[in-house]
Amino acid sequence: MNAPYIPSKGLVSALKRRLTRLQARKPFDGAQKRFLVSFSFDDFPHSAASTGAQILEQFGWRGTYYASAAFENSSNHLGNLFRTDDLGTLASNGHEIGCHTEHHIDCALNPPIVIEREIRRNQKHLRTLGIPASRSFAYPYGETSAAAKDILGQHYASLRGVRPGINRRHSDAHQLNAVPIEGDFAAKGLALSYVKSLEAEPGWLIFYTHDVRNNPSEWGCTPELFKAICSAVQRAEFEVMTVGGAFEALSTAEKAA
Ligand SMILES: [Zn+2]
Repeated sequence: MNAPYIPSKGLVSALKRRLTRLQARKPFDGAQKRFLVSFSFDDFPHSAASTGAQILEQFGWRGTYYASAAFENSSNHLGNLFRTDDLGTLASNGHEIGCHTEHHIDCALNPPIVIEREIRRNQKHLRTLGIPASRSFAYPYGETSAAAKDILGQHYASLRGVRPGINRRHSDAHQLNAVPIEGDFAAKGLALSYVKSLEAEPGWLIFYTHDVRNNPSEWGCTPELFKAICSAVQRAEFEVMTVGGAFEALSTAEKAA
């Protein structure tokens, strides 16, 4: 098995990331008297489509699955990735299938023309399978650039990153914050701290994870942890919507205001 790609952690990359957060923004108000939560899965593993979806559905909720078509019917460090029929099953059960580029590319390192080709081919593949077109995109590895934000923003309503935080006033729809759900039950503190923070003030909290299974990868979580976070969200009586649904609800309210 190939080692997973890890984006550069050097100082230059860190500075570039900081600059990118200030560029090509799409101002967005995520705090409009509502307490919204979305659950999302990246890449995505088969366990997210089976175990992850089952847990969400038990709570009466639906999630957003950011798919990279090249991963279909394959496996990697996240375990088995989605099967062709996972897409149809999820979509017909009301989950959202979002875009994550065809080959899970690092958008900070690729020119707009390559990114555009990647999303066109990914969407074409999903369309061929009868999956409704999505207006939601997540950056592989959370990596982006001003040019990538610009080009992707022409195709999608929302672009999600991996920087932890709740989307409130002065958010960037071209780089939405998202909080990881990773590890086992003992690691519940991080996600729960954001649930608590949302209780204090309206906003939109987007969670993301990868595989949902016992002995998860470094980027996944156990079913027990995932359920614990869902239970906390339920106890808090937050509204749970797909990323596309929540974005639409907030944008509509923003226009009406
Ligand atoms: Zn990914």
